[in-house]
Amino acid sequence: MATMIIEGERTKAASGKTYEVRNPATGEVVDEVPAGGPADVDRAAQAAHKTFATWSKLPANQRREILHKAAQHMLGKVEEIATILTKEQGKTILESRLEARRFGENIAWFADLADKVHGQHVKLPDLTTYGLVVRKPIGVCGAIVPWNFPLTLAANKVAPAIAAGNTVVLKPASTTPLSTLACIEALIEGGLPEGVVNVVLGQATGEAIVEHPLIRKIALTGSTPTGKRVMAKAAEQLKKVTLELGGSDPCIVLDDADLEGAARAISVGRFFNCGQQCLSTKRLYVQEGVYDALMEKLIARASKLKPGNGLDKDTRMGPMHTQTQRAEVEAQIKDAVDRGAKVLYGGGRPKGAEYDKGWFIEPTILENVPDGARMWTEEVFGPALPVRKIKDLDEGIRLGNDTPFGLGSSIWTANMAAAYRAVQELEAGYTWVNALVIAHDELPFGGTKQSGFGKEHGVEAFLQYTEEKSVVYGGIG
Ligand code: NAD
Repeated sequence: MATMIIEGERTKAASGKTYEVRNPATGEVVDEVPAGGPADVDRAAQAAHKTFATWSKLPANQRREILHKAAQHMLGKVEEIATILTKEQGKTILESRLEARRFGENIAWFADLADKVHGQHVKLPDLTTYGLVVRKPIGVCGAIVPWNFPLTLAANKVAPAIAAGNTVVLKPASTTPLSTLACIEALIEGGLPEGVVNVVLGQATGEAIVEHPLIRKIALTGSTPTGKRVMAKAAEQLKKVTLELGGSDPCIVLDDADLEGAARAISVGRFFNCGQQCLSTKRLYVQEGVYDALMEKLIARASKLKPGNGLDKDTRMGPMHTQTQRAEVEAQIKDAVDRGAKVLYGGGRPKGAEYDKGWFIEPTILENVPDGARMWTEEVFGPALPVRKIKDLDEGIRLGNDTPFGLGSSIWTANMAAAYRAVQELEAGYTWVNALVIAHDELPFGGTKQSGFGKEHGVEAFLQYTEEKSVVYGGIG
């Protein structure tokens, strides 16, 4: 049975309760896990608070070295960790390998910033004094993670937090705790001191993290409704919050676009991770002149995405993560079809005995999806893409912005002026121009509108795990 990681202990839940983690491809039990609660979060927060006193005071270059060594050790275990991730999450082993590797690389990327915290020297009117602005770590940070990219989204929070000298209480999604435990255990084996990252498990631990008085900052990746609840709760203690929430990213393809490049990016953007991505291509707007040609290419690509168990070598798309998640996407597809949409590809479940026990679904493309259909107004968190013909860029930008979300967006065109307008006018935290929808370590990533605020990735994320403090030195004249 798996255990939580709280300082030096590998521990069950205080309540003794457990639950099962199941494989979304087969329904088999992968492991039994402690169902933690507020008492466990309290122990983890106390442990993180105690460790903060030593971790935050380490010379920053030592912190950098410790994190590099720990990341290297973890990277030696990518294969083992990827297998666990596929079993609990469902994604293909190729996707799991990429994600496990990204975890270690992210720790290493932020390790390099650990000893590059700079302040300011400020002249003051009274020449017998001068001012300084110093940056300090915040304290204990809470990291709350969803199930779609358990490792990437944990690293996005843990890496900048601990590089800046903070300690962490980390809560994976209740259905994907095992690969996260394996990563943190690998970091500890590689030299990360016990207590710097503490892992609590179970549904009830999220709220307890937000409420715990020793936890000073909350970083959540999750749905927009969860973000609103967390922000309201965090407000009671005026905690800092970073909220990476839902999205419904538009992609605009103009007549002069590189169609092969666009088709590849849209296919990866919509079908990678079985469509369970926050940054993704969730609404497609295609100019009339290339509509038919692009649909042909997209359908050809979708037809190559063989669904199956993520551990099988020839699988190109794993199952959806849960039954509820699949039911939600199926209901969104049905709503579109009931309103008159035409299914261009997929639309159902793959047939065959091997699909009976898992949450499999076909990659799906729909056209003529009417205004007001759920696929346009809600986040579609699965491999289904609504497509619409547009006359021009104006229409593409207007429809693209017609959403409460503002996470990502993309445009395909050879016209630099059109691309520039899209960059200026699309309401989103990221715009890709003629490029694959991939979030880069170097660029700050985060949403606008109801997709949240605060940044992960980049120097900006690192700085958000520090606080500025002003200092006046007197008595020098
Ligand atoms: P979710 O909001 O249900 O859960 C996310 C995490 O929050 C889980 O660990 C959950 O246990 C915890 N949680 C739930 N309610 C809580 C509460 N009241 N207080 C504290 N913690 C709570 O989301 P999900 O279904 O696991 O993930 C899918 C959602 O995440 C989608 O909307 C997706 O777009 C979004 N997402 C966003 C990003 C991004 O970077 N913007 C990335 C990935 C996923």
